[in-house]
Amino acid sequence: MAAADRLFCLLFPSPCRVCGAPLRHARRLPVCAACLQAVRLAYTAPGCPRCGRELGAAAAVCAACSVAPPPYDSVASWAWYDGAGRELVRLLKFHGVLPAAAFCAARMTAIPTPPADLVLAVPLGPLRRRRRGFNQSERIARHWAQTQALPTAFAAIWRTRETAPQWGLTARERQANMRDAFAAGPAVAGRRVLLLDDVITTGATVAACALALRRAGAAEVHVLTVARAPWPAGPAAGREGQEAA
Ligand SMILES: [Zn+2]
Ligand SMILES: [Zn+2]
Repeated sequence: MAAADRLFCLLFPSPCRVCGAPLRHARRLPVCAACLQAVRLAYTAPGCPRCGRELGAAAAVCAACSVAPPPYDSVASWAWYDGAGRELVRLLKFHGVLPAAAFCAARMTAIPTPPADLVLAVPLGPLRRRRRGFNQSERIARHWAQTQALPTAFAAIWRTRETAPQWGLTARERQANMRDAFAAGPAVAGRRVLLLDDVITTGATVAACALALRRAGAAEVHVLTVARAPWPAGPAAGREGQEAA
């Protein structure tokens, strides 16, 4: 930022991009302290360690995972995908507010995660990446990996085809949309992989990634996301609320 721009920001800081309140100081992340405080944390709520869904009392994993566990070993998410948590993701993803990536990554260091050898991010198709100019999950993963002193290997997983946005699809449709949409390279063989994504809803996207990683020989796949959308309740659920990458 040029010196003149910096001075302008200092004198006329832009309003909070979540609630519109005037910001008293210029910040890299144009969100007020009250909005950041209002983010509802998801990782502090008791959930199934395998899939992150709500867990009944005294169960080690949820009913769904005890019958058919997902292809990943664990899921943890920082915030619920609503209110300020959702706005942070949207600011990064749809408005290019890149400092939101560093902010989320820093907050996500509070989540206890299993040991990993390699940090990956859910890849975008080349078309969507070109349009957006960056991969939001990769941005967050880069910051997070740095804090953990872990290597990244973003080229180790890629999309084999462009997929329709998951938004507006049911859980079953999401699964079909993502089937065989990813492939992974030999860099993950024998490694414990930490896969980062911005939002998890039904887990269809990270499940497809995990299958590709397993096929390439990954020893473990753990999923870490900024936000978690509530699990769709019925066949028609999941038709609103989330825009997928
Ligand atoms: Zn605010
Ligand atoms: Zn579960």
